[in-house]
Amino acid sequence: MSNPTKLYVVVPCYNEEEVLNETSSQMLALFGDMQADSLITEDSRIIFVDDGSKDKTWEIIDSLTKKDPTFGGIKLAHNAGHQNAVFAGLMTVKDDCDCAVSIDADLQDDILAIPKMVEKYQSGCEVVYGVRNKRDTDTFFKRTTAVAFYKLMELMGVKIVFNHADFRLMSRRALEALANYPERNMFLRGMVPTVGFKSDCVYYDRHERFAGESKYPLKKMLSFAFDGITSFSISPIRAITVLGTIACIIAVIMAIYTIVSKIIGHADAGWASVMLSLWFIGGVQLLSIGLIGEYIGKMYKEVKRRPRFIIEAYINGGEKRENISDKG
Ligand code: UDP
Ligand code: MG
Repeated sequence: MSNPTKLYVVVPCYNEEEVLNETSSQMLALFGDMQADSLITEDSRIIFVDDGSKDKTWEIIDSLTKKDPTFGGIKLAHNAGHQNAVFAGLMTVKDDCDCAVSIDADLQDDILAIPKMVEKYQSGCEVVYGVRNKRDTDTFFKRTTAVAFYKLMELMGVKIVFNHADFRLMSRRALEALANYPERNMFLRGMVPTVGFKSDCVYYDRHERFAGESKYPLKKMLSFAFDGITSFSISPIRAITVLGTIACIIAVIMAIYTIVSKIIGHADAGWASVMLSLWFIGGVQLLSIGLIGEYIGKMYKEVKRRPRFIIEAYINGGEKRENISDKG
């Protein structure tokens, strides 16, 4: 049997006051079980990342850290978004642990998958993906949009694990590698597979959010999907180039047709077709400019190299550390 692993669980929280007490006690119980089985060490930790919540989230985290040294907290100075919060947590704890698991605060992902992930880690995996078996508990809308999203990503040549969200284990080595990704447009489930190393999956059933509501409204979901595609794939821009080429060929045919009509003497028959191609080409151009703009916008964000997160406080084992931030 392997030595116990020093495990850190990173939990991003945005306005999660309704779920934190339940989540923390379930996780603490699980840690107790895993420690009893000598799977993880006594100094393993559960670290909550407060992503600039407006409710009592940080107060709850703070009191948890005082109650039990297993709990730790990271407070981000403002709402950086789910992906940045997860990244902030992982980068902050990476030097303290053997491996880290990221999991949402709402317990939709089955925490019983965590011991299985640790076992895979102990047998040599550097990255273990949590994959949902079925999506019965999601709404029909969420299910279909999610499937469409994964299919689209696949079609565009983005390496992505089907039905895997941000519930995963990463070894310290994998985290060190991830730390070298300087990009600002964070899409972790696209980035992690490009890190490489030996990986495996653990399957689980996804539950319903037991309290509070989704912090991912449709607008955030769409922008997340759009970001994922444009950060990882240039297929959209290729498709536009193809469309532009086809439009040009049509335009040449139209030009020949117009000239021939003119010579034959059917000149005024051309009005409709001219109007048509005018609109068509105008449309294609606008679309292309918009899409190119999307990439330029991304480059703009990258060249600014702003920190992706700023940490206000980090409590670990009852001791407070300050001035830790993104050096990527
Ligand atoms: N979250 C966050 N920052 C945000 C939005 C969400 O840290 O700006 C966290 C949230 O607290 C939760 C996780 O990200 O732990 C996933 O959010 P949610 O469960 O609302 O998304 P859904 O499961 O509905 O996709
Ligand atoms: Mg959720």
